[in-house]
Amino acid sequence: MTSNFDLNKILRPHIISLAPYSSARDEYTGHVGIFLDANENPYGSVTAENYNRYPDPYQAEIKQKISPLKHINAERIFLGNGSDEPIDLLIRATCTPGQDHVIIMPPTYGMYEVSANIHDAKIDKVLLTPDFSIDTEAVLNAIMPQTKIIWICSPNNPTGNVMQNDAIQTLLENFNGLVVVDEAYIDFTKAPSWIGQLDNYPNLVVLQTFSKAWGLAGLRVGMCFASPELIRILNKIKPPYNISLPAQKALLEGLEHIETKTAMVADILHERSSLCTMLEDLSLVIKVYPSDANFLLVQFEDAKAVMDYLIGAQIIVRDRSRVQLCQGCLRITVGTKQENEVLIDSLKKYQQTSVIV
Ligand SMILES: *Cc1c(COP(=O)(O)O)cnc(C)c1O
Repeated sequence: MTSNFDLNKILRPHIISLAPYSSARDEYTGHVGIFLDANENPYGSVTAENYNRYPDPYQAEIKQKISPLKHINAERIFLGNGSDEPIDLLIRATCTPGQDHVIIMPPTYGMYEVSANIHDAKIDKVLLTPDFSIDTEAVLNAIMPQTKIIWICSPNNPTGNVMQNDAIQTLLENFNGLVVVDEAYIDFTKAPSWIGQLDNYPNLVVLQTFSKAWGLAGLRVGMCFASPELIRILNKIKPPYNISLPAQKALLEGLEHIETKTAMVADILHERSSLCTMLEDLSLVIKVYPSDANFLLVQFEDAKAVMDYLIGAQIIVRDRSRVQLCQGCLRITVGTKQENEVLIDSLKKYQQTSVIV
């Protein structure tokens, strides 16, 4: 277990002593009364639905529902405007611009690098191995005194695989900064979440999102699970009302329909497997990588030509062909049964035309 982790040593000094903005809804948390404290419009809104009141800055009602669902205490939950917000806030809280470092493991989710660049944090890249697993030795060697965060994505985007437990454990035990495990695709794998390990590792941070399995990408709500101390810091530096009232309302409704999420995930998993089989049967496909997510990484003979052909057919997939270790690959999100059939039909047509030429 980590022996030397000290949150105060990895936070930027001024963040530790920062006095946060105290909002009206912070200072008085009751629900009944005449509210003349927040300069809101007392008559209502210009819309049919009323949005004239500021939302709960800490989303207590939502966290009370997430808590039993994830088997975690509410004080260990932070909600952000997408998981992109906690990604930004974690760097903001720990990395002094131009000085501190983060480690990322390409090929992976692009926001870790973009957010680090926004804050002028130095980025040390340690490539995944050719089979897309963590190169533990190389990561350990890349750690410097100024390294504040190691970003791990599991299941990884765009490769679709779950990262090895022993590698993550080794990093947690041998690094005195934050190890962030981004589990955006956790609902599509049988692998357990790292949430269950939060009690064992004070330097562990787990990210999840409502954007994928829950089908709520447009709401922009992401979850961050960590020590209560770190959650308090994130709450201190976030914009006061970071989750809008309509988002909170819709999320409360969504959390009442977990069975719908479960059913959609089951459909997606079923479709993932048939899409994989259909793709493997095409001669223009070199390889379909195994996936623990809701997309497939597929290697083609000529990815660029396939991509262009699909765009002509109004089927949009993600070109990852110039990404390190993903040469010749397209990332294809698992669609509905019907969408996947249209995709396969289109690829078959492409195959026929390219044979004739
Ligand atoms: C899609 C995705 C997210 C989700 O981001 P949101 O801001 O919550 O929509 C986070 N991490 C990874 C790796 C993703 O692929």
